[in-house]
Order: sequence, then structure tokens, then C-alpha cells
Amino acid sequence: MHAEIIAIGTELTTGAKLDTNSQWLSIELAAVGIPVLLHTTVADDMPAMLETMRAAVRRSDIVLISGGLGPTLDDLTRQLLAELAGVELVLHEPSLQHVRDIFAKRKRVMPERNTIQAMFPAGSEPIENPHGTAPGIWFELPRADGSICRIAAMPGVPSEMKPMFRDRVLPRLPRSDRVIRRARVNCYGVGESACEEKLGDVTARGRDPEVGITVHEGTITLRIEAHGASESECDAKIAKDKQLIRERLGALVFGEEDEQLEDIVARELNRCAKTVSIADEVTGGVLSCWLTAVAKSEQCFAGGLIVGHVSKVSHENEPTDSATRARRLAETTRERFGTDFAVSIAGSLRTSGQGADEIPRLYLALADASGTEVEEHIPVADISFARNRAAKSALDILRLRLQN
Ligand code: AMP
Ligand code: MG
Repeated sequence: MHAEIIAIGTELTTGAKLDTNSQWLSIELAAVGIPVLLHTTVADDMPAMLETMRAAVRRSDIVLISGGLGPTLDDLTRQLLAELAGVELVLHEPSLQHVRDIFAKRKRVMPERNTIQAMFPAGSEPIENPHGTAPGIWFELPRADGSICRIAAMPGVPSEMKPMFRDRVLPRLPRSDRVIRRARVNCYGVGESACEEKLGDVTARGRDPEVGITVHEGTITLRIEAHGASESECDAKIAKDKQLIRERLGALVFGEEDEQLEDIVARELNRCAKTVSIADEVTGGVLSCWLTAVAKSEQCFAGGLIVGHVSKVSHENEPTDSATRARRLAETTRERFGTDFAVSIAGSLRTSGQGADEIPRLYLALADASGTEVEEHIPVADISFARNRAAKSALDILRLRLQN
């Protein structure tokens, strides 16, 4: 058994609005063990909607629709379902009364057009909507092979769709005897494909649990999805996979779920009662911004310097090569703030424009009582992406020092 989700609305296909309903519904369905195989977004266009629906009914046991139940001419979901089933729309008196009551409560005259919201394809059932005018539609359609496809059409407005799904649609869905549980493991310091290579058969398709890889600004997230008869069975499979991932990736793994590098750095610093300061002539403060956002970071983060280009060139005795400057910055900042560690980022995200094959380079340094380590870092072309990567790589040097 699997479900698919269809989001209807021209505001979605034009890009004016983002379809957040499908994401929300998928998470809800996974929680009750129903896998979702497809998301489709379709404009308020009858031929396109019909084609989408015909395919959906053929291939999926459950089809959840959001959008297109409004009273205006572009809202076509009820007509779509009638046409799909080859039936007429019929008036449902209690629903009409519901729409009338809502207008009366708001002391407004009900426009004639709103009558359409009380019309349902013959053979379907209205789904009450205590939060708005548009009732939803529950429709069970027989399929060629004798099975049935369960369809629930819900309003597009998220604040109406969510309670309708939880209170009135979910209880009607067939119970799955399967449970789906998910977990995330976060890594840093390796490319996506190199990470997959290290993982070996862990990311093979069709494996249970299935492990997928996504990357965002250098942070690799391994998404584990386990299917089983109970939560404990899934949790045991996930624990085994996490162990396997840690064995294969070692120190590349820094955290789980929503944990970011700065969370780990602050946690580890606090755990061993150490402090850090930073000197940053590259990210414009991204590094300190992230660190200060972490709870209890005030115990470990002493402060820092954000150095701009002007002060870089105005100090005569400042070293001009970035590697030396990174080292010097980390050491002087550590002294100035009296911290156990200091991290610095020096260099430039942009080329000076002089040499044709010149590439920008950054240098990241970590200073502590035992000395200073300097690492070269080649930034990517996109500036905001490069800034965040540089800040992450600087945090990662400290993270590795603290975790090992
Ligand atoms: P409708 O039910 O088509 O009249 O949609 C009403 C409003 O709900 C739209 O104008 C959107 O602002 C919002 N909406 C519709 N579909 C979605 C969706 N898939 N995700 C988020 N918001 C939506
Ligand atoms: Mg619409």
C-alpha cells in the first residue's frame, strides 16, 4: 500500500507560492506507516488535472489532494472528481447550511457562487470543515483490478487542511501494519560522492533501512528510513545502521538530527570548560553569529574580531600572505581574549582579478597552548555559499581537535 499527494493551484506551478502541504502530509503519513511514492503539483487546468488524477488512481491506493476547493472559477477540484468518476455534482443541503451559517456569523451576504462549495460528486462524501467554508471530499473509486482507490480532497489553506487531515481523513485511512521511522546522521569534511564510496553497500537501493545522502553547504546528511512491524524493530535497525555509518566514516560524523557544527563545538568546549575566540576577515561575522545562537555559548565564546579589507591593507607590518596572516591572527586573538583556543579565517573569497588562472584561497588557523595549525581552503564561486563553507570548515577544525 502506498499514497501519493497532489497539490493543485496555478499559484504553485507559477512559483508564486511554495507547496508546503505535500511536505506536511508526507511526514504525517510516514508517522502512521504509509509510504508516499509521488508528489505532483498541477495548475488549475482541467486537462492537466484529469491526466494527473487518472494516473494517480491507477497507481496509488491513497490519493491526497490539497487546493482547488474554493468558490472561484479557477477552483476545479470538485468538477475534476466528478469528471474522473463520470458522475454529476449534486447539492448536499447540510453543507450548504454550513456555508450559509459561516456567512451569517461574519454578517455577510453569501454570494451565489459559494453554493458550489456544497456540491459533491455523486457517490462521494463531504468532509466537514469547522475552520472554513470549503468542506473536503472523500471519494472511494473502484479500480479495474477490483481494488479501491481512496481519495481525500482537502482545502489548500494550510490552517484548514491540517486539522481536516488529522481529525477527519486520517481515521478513515486503512491501517498499515507497518511502521516507518527516520533518523539523520550529519557529516562534514568530505564530498558527497567520496562519502558514498566510503559507505559502500550502506546506500544501496532497496536495502532496509534505506540510506539516502543529501548535501547542504558542505554538510552531508545521511537519511535513514527503516520499515518494520514495530517502532522498536525500526529503532533497532536504525541503531545498527548508525553504528555501521560511524565505523565507515569515523570522525567525518559530527552529529545527528538537527545538530550543526557550532552546536557540537559549543557543547564540547563547555564539557571540558574551555573557551574560544575568533578572528574573521572573510565571512563578515557568520562564524560568531552561529556560535552566539547556540544555547550556553556565552560560557565558551569570549568574542572576536571581524576584520575588513581596509584594515588589512592599512597596517604596514601586517603580513600580506594570507597563510601567515591567518596564523598571526589566531595567535594574537587568543592572547587578546585570553582564551584556550582561537580560530581565524584569512584570505579572500574573490580573486584580485589580476592573474587569469588565479584562484581565491582562504587560510583557516587554530591556535592553542601547543601551537598553531593552518589549513588551506579553496572557496566555491557563490559568495554566500562560500562564506558559510568557510565558517563551517573553521568550526570543523576545532570540532576535530575537541572530539579526538
Ligand atoms: P484553494 O483551496 O486552492 O483555494 O487555496 C487557497 C490558498 O491556500 C491558496 O491561495 C494558497 O495560499 C494556499 N495553498 C493552496 N495550496 C497550497 C499548498 N500546496 N501549500 C501551501 N499553501 C497552499
Ligand atoms: Mg486554488
